[in-house]
Parts: sequence; structure tokens; C-alpha cells
Amino acid sequence: MYFDTHAHYDDAAFDADRDALLSALPESGVDLVMDPGCDVESSRAAVALAEKHSHVYAAVGLHPENCGNCSRAELAVIRELAAHPKAVAIGEIGLDYHWDTNPPKAFQQEIFRLQLELAGELDLPVIVHDRDAHGDSLAIVEEFPKIRGVFHCYSGSAEMAEILLKRGWYLGFDGPVTYKNARKAREVAEATPPDRILLETDSPYLSPVPNRGKRNDSRNLSYIVKTLSMWKNMDPAELAQVAKENGKRLFGIEV
Ligand SMILES: [Zn+2]
Repeated sequence: MYFDTHAHYDDAAFDADRDALLSALPESGVDLVMDPGCDVESSRAAVALAEKHSHVYAAVGLHPENCGNCSRAELAVIRELAAHPKAVAIGEIGLDYHWDTNPPKAFQQEIFRLQLELAGELDLPVIVHDRDAHGDSLAIVEEFPKIRGVFHCYSGSAEMAEILLKRGWYLGFDGPVTYKNARKAREVAEATPPDRILLETDSPYLSPVPNRGKRNDSRNLSYIVKTLSMWKNMDPAELAQVAKENGKRLFGIEV
């Protein structure tokens, strides 16, 4: 029923119950999970989880917040990991200007471009993280017109969404759609055709209402679907099914 296209089960928050939780997800209606890596170590862990669990797939990449010490050596490892048959995307990559302690903007942009190039070379889709960096994120993906992917937990304007949708991108919707101040997310959701919507939890972060503040996991997708389906005037089960097919199409998953 559900494809959670963004969940960090390699995160330490799941150390106590990771395998039991993942094994139980299909019983809760979560048939597919994408675990995006954030650095070399977590990309490796994501691939290992994908190897262990048939319903888990991995993305491999260097997250803008984690790329500070990265060089071409780390990129070479990401390239190697991407050769695994269950590594189906490059991610989580992008720009994060939120914290002053993040790597310098120009450096983040360089690492982002190098990974978009890599995705082009390997013919893989990408998972983009764009936090407080909408203009630069859009400008950089526009430099790579052949690359497709998802803007994960999309937080830009409806105007930028339209540009991305026209260029063939998908938009990811997460727990914040259930928060009280989700006016902009609603505008974006209304402008997004159902066949470009991906459903994500970003577990262990961003738990939706009514579990806000607690550790998140893929079973909470139902709350996100409930809000989105109201906005889209669709049956929740139908929206979940369409979004699952979208994820399979984008990431080339045939099951
Ligand atoms: Zn993430």
C-alpha cells in the first residue's frame, strides 16, 4: 500500500529495534522503503539494509550538512556503492543554508554539482535536500536538464514547484503537511498533479501530528496521506497507491 520514499533507518535512533521494525513494516501496509545515505558511512549502512530486507532500497550520497570534510575520495566511494543493484538513486544531496555552522555555500554547491554529474553519468535519479536554499538549488538543477529526481520534503514556493514539475521532477511531502502552519504546503500540493507526488516520513525526524516530537517511522505515513488526500480531494488509499507507483517509476523499482 505505502512506499515511504525517504526514511533514515540507518540512523542511530533505530539501533535498538531496527531489524524488527523493518521486518514488521509490510504487515502495517508499508511495502517499500527508500533509505537515503547522508555520508559514506550511512550510505554504506543503507546499502547493507537494502541487502538484508527485500522491501528496502538505498540511495547513496553526501548530504550538504555532512559534506564538510568530503573530497573526491568520498565521491569515489559513493560511485562504488552506487553500483549495487539495490542502490537506485544518488541522495541525499543538495544545499542547506539553515545553520551558520554548515559547510560554506560555495563548497556545498561544488559537492552538489559533482553528485549531479555522477547521477548523470550513472543514469540514476537524485534525492535533493533544499533547506533555505531554494534559488540556488533550482539554478543548479537547471544546469543539469537531463537529471530527474525528487525535491524531498519540498518547502519552496508554488511558483518554483511549477518550474520543477514542468522539468519532470517529483515533489516529496512529509510530516509538516499536518502542522498548523502548512498553508504554503497546501498551495504546493494543490498545484502538484497526483502522478508527481511522493510520500515520505524522513524518519526518525519530522513526525506528523498526532505523533509530533516522537521518533518517526514509516507507519506514520497514514497521517500524511490523510491530510494530502483531503487537499487533493482524493481517496487516501488511491493517493497512496498512485504515490507508490510514482516512486517505483522514478527509482526504476519493479516488484
Ligand atoms: Zn533525509
